[in-house]
Amino acid sequence: MKSYMPSEYFVDRDEEKCIRCKVCVNQCTYETHSYDEEEDVIRSKDENCVNCQRCVTFCPTKAISIIKNDSPYRYNVNWTPEAIKDIKKQAETGGILLTGMGCDKPFLSYWERLLLNASQVTNPSIDPLREPMEIRTYLGSKPDKLEIELDNGDFVLKTKLSPQLTLETPIMFSAISYGAISLNVHESLARAATEYGTYFNSGEGGLDPRLYKYGNHAIVQVASGRFGVHSRYLQSGAAIEIKIGQGAKPGIGGHLPGEKVTENIARTRMIPVGTDALSPAPQHDIYSIEDLRQLIYALKEATDYTKPVSVKIAAVHNSAAIASGIVRAGADIVAIDGVRGSTGAAPKVIRDNVGIPIELAIASVDQRLREEGIRNKASIVAAGGIRSSGDVIKAIALGADAVYIATAALVAIGCTVCQKCYTGKCPWGIASTDPWVAKRINPDIASQRLTNLLRGWSLEIKDMMGGMGINAIESLRGNRLSLRGVGLTDTELRILGLKMAGD
Ligand code: SF4
Ligand code: SF4
Repeated sequence: MKSYMPSEYFVDRDEEKCIRCKVCVNQCTYETHSYDEEEDVIRSKDENCVNCQRCVTFCPTKAISIIKNDSPYRYNVNWTPEAIKDIKKQAETGGILLTGMGCDKPFLSYWERLLLNASQVTNPSIDPLREPMEIRTYLGSKPDKLEIELDNGDFVLKTKLSPQLTLETPIMFSAISYGAISLNVHESLARAATEYGTYFNSGEGGLDPRLYKYGNHAIVQVASGRFGVHSRYLQSGAAIEIKIGQGAKPGIGGHLPGEKVTENIARTRMIPVGTDALSPAPQHDIYSIEDLRQLIYALKEATDYTKPVSVKIAAVHNSAAIASGIVRAGADIVAIDGVRGSTGAAPKVIRDNVGIPIELAIASVDQRLREEGIRNKASIVAAGGIRSSGDVIKAIALGADAVYIATAALVAIGCTVCQKCYTGKCPWGIASTDPWVAKRINPDIASQRLTNLLRGWSLEIKDMMGGMGINAIESLRGNRLSLRGVGLTDTELRILGLKMAGD
């Protein structure tokens, strides 16, 4: 069938600058560029270009520009180019439209409408360069009270504390499964988490045994497909996370196509080579909070009650009530993933229409747990489109203990958010298990870039805390007086628990 789809981008090559080195030909995994030997010229197929910027970055003479095809159709407010292209695509394929990375719609972000406070005159600011700033964070269930006794003149803690995760910065790497990304990317995340004193998350595809040495900084996930879940895997991590949902596709499962299931991935996931890895939408043994409780305690039992258990949900309409049930079921951590959360492949219609912004979910969950007197029973980890240290600080002020980042981490190592992860052809070697392309990620370099990102954001967090006159991140958690809203309705302000700026 002839395609009626217009090219999304045009490749503009400056022939005077081009030295025919063929770097672009070799770098592009979409076969956009080719070399015409007869005429000694590089040609480009515009229709293949996804604007990943790989060729632009690596062209030694800066000869390439990618130009967006902004007006393939006549201007129409209702029938946007995106709407027309989506219909044409489905008319040609008859399938569900897939997309990668997170929701790109502009109407769902609250971060820009939240502003932080700063000290002036009274309660003076603190200089983070000269005074200690505490951003270490402990995740896990906290006791209602601490009992201390005097033993031979020393104070001794009598209360038995639940297992905790210790984070040197309130930022962790979110779940990205082996198979969705290459081993090199998993290793880079593991090394950076270990180096900086935080955690990476295995995602739902198990953990390659070569990464067990980073287990003290790993959160191992148990999802509906139970891929790669066995006793040694559970023992290898510092914490276990039950994945109920994810922000990019609440209510539905996952699908790793058979062609991405190479020998190592198959071994790690415990499935045959080349078979599709289908994660069912529901956990087939969980139909109630009591069922969830059974799984939480089965995992605690399997690990001798030495590891915190987290439950990850997508942020949806009744997240506060769901989170309350999860905490009462015995979870030590509730991870909430907002509508802008990313994934390798999600149906576009789900990504753009299901779920709620993480900002609203954090505030309502924190508020509900406080009202019920169980906020200390579990930590809250927020995820889904955290792009900067400013977002981290705001998430914590709204009530989170820490955040998960995934897209930001991948951007740090090269991702340009081209949203084509589902093709398996990521030219940056991130969302690809092709051994040749995956080599483009060098764990030595990528882990350094990730560590630098964590360091930069941590310094900024300390700076912002200092400006607010706060020297311990604990004092910021759920401290909504440190935030004000702009351009928000009374209802939005009520849910966020904030005053209007100027009030
Ligand atoms: S990478 Fe740049 S210089 Fe090399 S062939 Fe492509 S356009 Fe020409
Ligand atoms: S991981 Fe790769 S394919 Fe996915 S958005 Fe980033 S650059 Fe594009």
